[in-house]
Amino acid sequence: MRAVRYDGTGLYLSDIPAPVAGPGQVVLEVTAAGLCHSDLAVMSRPPEALPYKLPITLGHEAVGVVVDVGAGISGLAEGDTVAVYGPHGCGACRTCRSGAENHCPHARWAGILPPGLGADGALADYLLVPHSRHLVPLRGLDPVRAAPLTDAGLTSYHAVRSALPRLPPDGTALLIGIGGLGHLAVQILRALSSAQIIAVDMAADKRELALRCGADTALPSTDTVPDQVRDLTEGVGADVVFDFVASDATLRMAARSLRPGGEISIVGVGEGRLPVAVNLVPLGAVVRTPYWGTQSDLVDVLALAREGRITVEVEEYALEETPLAYERLARGNVRGRAVVNP
Ligand code: NAD
Ligand code: ZN
Ligand code: ZN
Repeated sequence: MRAVRYDGTGLYLSDIPAPVAGPGQVVLEVTAAGLCHSDLAVMSRPPEALPYKLPITLGHEAVGVVVDVGAGISGLAEGDTVAVYGPHGCGACRTCRSGAENHCPHARWAGILPPGLGADGALADYLLVPHSRHLVPLRGLDPVRAAPLTDAGLTSYHAVRSALPRLPPDGTALLIGIGGLGHLAVQILRALSSAQIIAVDMAADKRELALRCGADTALPSTDTVPDQVRDLTEGVGADVVFDFVASDATLRMAARSLRPGGEISIVGVGEGRLPVAVNLVPLGAVVRTPYWGTQSDLVDVLALAREGRITVEVEEYALEETPLAYERLARGNVRGRAVVNP
């Protein structure tokens, strides 16, 4: 089968054996795979700094059709269309049993790694899913627009849901970075809250996308953002700030725009530092570093899409065009999510 592999030096299209489902496993024919900025972060690190061996097939946002069902699985049949829950845990511990496999404390030490982020991923004709519990039925959703929901949508939903207790109905949310995740976070906030939404991006077309997604205001990414946020909040500041970039500059912007007792949700995996001490962040502030989402979060995100409350803006590419799509993503030219359709 064809697969987009990364070996520590670059991306290449390769012909590798198609996976076969062992007991309890499932093989999908991939119908859509989304490209995430985290893949660029992986490719920018020295290979020895990665917690797994290369080469691997990239792609951790996946939707597919079941083509091979391993022994011992019930409730799943060939031809079913499913989304893949990516942050696999051990499946047995208290955290996993609560549905929060994204926080499984055993996964890493047990060598359990997400598809595309350690295990072979979805940028291929076929994907091996190690357990049927990771699959959620699409139930009519368009595969291309559903694939990004498994990470861009799921991570954004999880971050928003976690922050909602600090966001009153007449409060203000500030979102920095309106890319694959950010444009969905704006829509999820709009669906779940009546709070004012202020979006920040350095690109004019992303600010325009933010407004179309339901933001009340979209600001260029400059040093004056904290003052502008204060002007828009009667001098108070934002209740919650979501940083989908996490550079030194955006984290400083986040801290300076926040109200006392507010929450900074650092979703981006940029290399920035947020100095946390009294007088460096507002008093009573909470800093959170959400990671992906829970299984029930994924069910919720798919439901929001089915209800038409959130829509993924997509650019479509053929599998061979994956390197080109990543280049566009690295240059900040992708609007919404780039989705590869093998
Ligand atoms: P993306 O490239 O699609 O979007 C990034 C956006 O940020 C772009 O619109 C870009 O114009 C904007 N931007 C860049 N620098 C900026 C600045 N200084 N000020 C304002 N806007 C700026 O990326 P994405 O796929 O949406 O991912 C966003 C971040 O989230 C990445 O760091 C990614 O690695 C991370 N991520 C984290 C998790 C998690 O579980 N925590 C999951 C997925 C992605
Ligand atoms: Zn991702
Ligand atoms: Zn576990």
